[in-house]
Amino acid sequence: MDEFEDGILNNELRDEDQFEVRLRPQKLDEFQGQTAVKDNLKVFVTAALGRDAPLDHVFLSGPPGLGKTTLAGILAHEMGAEFKVTSAPALEKPKDLAGLLTSMSEGTLFFIDEIHRLRPAIEEMLYIAMEDYELDWIIGQGPAARNIRIPLPPFTLLGATTKPGKVAGPLYSRFGITVRLELYSEEEILLVLQRSARLLGIRCSDEALRMLARSSRGTPRVANRLLRRVRDFAEVLHDGTIEEPVVTHALKRLYIDSIGLERHDREILKTIIRNYGGGPVGAETLAISVGESIDTLEDFYEPFLIRSGLLKRTPRGRMVTPQAYAHLGIAHTGTEDNGNEPLLF
Ligand code: ADP
Repeated sequence: MDEFEDGILNNELRDEDQFEVRLRPQKLDEFQGQTAVKDNLKVFVTAALGRDAPLDHVFLSGPPGLGKTTLAGILAHEMGAEFKVTSAPALEKPKDLAGLLTSMSEGTLFFIDEIHRLRPAIEEMLYIAMEDYELDWIIGQGPAARNIRIPLPPFTLLGATTKPGKVAGPLYSRFGITVRLELYSEEEILLVLQRSARLLGIRCSDEALRMLARSSRGTPRVANRLLRRVRDFAEVLHDGTIEEPVVTHALKRLYIDSIGLERHDREILKTIIRNYGGGPVGAETLAISVGESIDTLEDFYEPFLIRSGLLKRTPRGRMVTPQAYAHLGIAHTGTEDNGNEPLLF
């Protein structure tokens, strides 16, 4: 994905997110929100433990920063099993996957991120490994080449993706458990923030946390990052306690508006209004117009704009809604924009 400079809300993993690893829940009970998902997973884990069998393969999908990797780690912890992590782009050659598969122990939870990006040869190998717990390996070359099957210990594959629609049918169908994470509600994000504030020993008022929850795009990673930034403002410019005025000040300095849009979100909406009469405009064209990769546009920006009721995906392309005009303070003809950022705070 493309990098973009001022996006505090961009939830690509960064160095400072090492810090976030400390906030990562280890157990299902520490994982906030997503109750239905958690309740089902508890049943599947308890059943597998009761049968002394590995957990069925788990498919995890949803926008970045919602807890796919965290859940995978939690499942390993709950199963009391080894946890191995890789991502599809890191698996360049069949031997890369073979190396990982053959070093697993019984019941290992093997996490592959961005599973929609597997190369075909590796995907084929994975089918057999998932279904038969065997590694299909070619030895020799040319006419003398032959396939051998190497037994693998029973294991659980955890495949995560932000683009479930791009995962091949045969691969998808080999997962016995599917988990789809949706953007969190404000209440759920509040729980995430309360937990993080407690773990980090941050003093804050409930109202201040609620304001932060409203500005966190329904995404735990964004919420944690915002909390850290607002703590900086509280410590440097105030007495260290996070109160509403501190949050208001910090959000303004970070160009995040009252409903959690950052400058780039507003640019996307304005571009559709100014350049395309409010839409519809194709995703590729829009991505080029706003200088983003299509992945960043689709995975990061759009889910929240859609949930906020400001953007619609239609068969003919993306369209802004009347609420977008109202939020941006632009008259509904699509041409009355004076080009200034409206006062949103
Ligand atoms: P993904 O793999 O979906 O991109 P991660 O699992 O890396 O997301 O989650 C990002 C961060 O958000 C984690 O470090 C964790 O601290 C936090 N997080 C995610 N989901 C939750 C949750 N349900 N409860 C508490 N913290 C969470």
